[in-house]
Amino acid sequence: MSQRLKGKTVLITGASSGIGKSTALEFARTSPNDLKLILTARRIDTLKEIATEIGKYAEGVKVLAVKLDISKPEEVNGFVGQLPEEFKEIDILVNNAGLVKGVAQAPDIKPEDIDVMFATNVTGLINMTQAILPIFKKRPDGGRGDVINIGSIAGRESYQGGSIYCATKAAVRSFTDALRRELISTRIRIIEIDPGQVETEFSIVRFYGDKSKANKVYEGVDPLTPDDIAEVVVFAAGRRENVVIADTLIFPNHQA
Ligand code: NDP
Repeated sequence: MSQRLKGKTVLITGASSGIGKSTALEFARTSPNDLKLILTARRIDTLKEIATEIGKYAEGVKVLAVKLDISKPEEVNGFVGQLPEEFKEIDILVNNAGLVKGVAQAPDIKPEDIDVMFATNVTGLINMTQAILPIFKKRPDGGRGDVINIGSIAGRESYQGGSIYCATKAAVRSFTDALRRELISTRIRIIEIDPGQVETEFSIVRFYGDKSKANKVYEGVDPLTPDDIAEVVVFAAGRRENVVIADTLIFPNHQA
């Protein structure tokens, strides 16, 4: 248990499944019991179930479930203003929400799929960061807080049929790198964690529910679990303030 997370408020986007959900559970399981968690996603009922689950084993951890579609700037802009006072002092933002729409060769990608991937993975992440940074910046000594962006190995190397998704994750990488440089004189830490293959709803959704196709992606690979990524997120957040786990690639052994 990292005492450095004592009294912290953590906001996670895309907390209703996969890596975001596991990250919420990992923070609650391993942090001091005065932790506050803000869980956001579009599926509010699922978030509420997760909040109840956390309440069963992490007594003291306060959990707030909030419906938020990060692809809608008007929802992101109004987000902080509608938080109850005791949840407003956010210390850690985990920009995890993201999606992929289909696998198609570049000429065949539907314009609406391009729009939703960029609106969520790139603009949504940027808007969330812009919404939360003022909270970090108003703290003494040039500001304090953590932004933890979940990128992807796809932002470093592209794959056929994934041009737009890969482009969105490359954009996350560039944004994260520039932000880290811009905030270099502050105590704000900018962290990127890039997973390889992780078994979540994501891998199935990618093939519109076709499990056999999805399983093919994992041929010869034992994919990571969302918990594997969650552990790294919480580890990074729990380091001493001067330590930045700036840029981490984590993938299963045997992934090419
Ligand atoms: P999941 O599909 O399990 O989870 C995605 C989460 O994002 C869900 O909670 C979903 O919630 C949320 N989400 C999607 N769109 C929006 C939106 N517009 N507004 C708010 N929340 C949204 O996938 P993963 O856990 O695997 O994905 C998490 C992150 O990890 C993504 O950024 C993904 O790109 C990245 N990643 C995943 C890899 C993998 O192999 N699984 C590999 C590398 C990176 P809801 O539907 O309720 O809104």
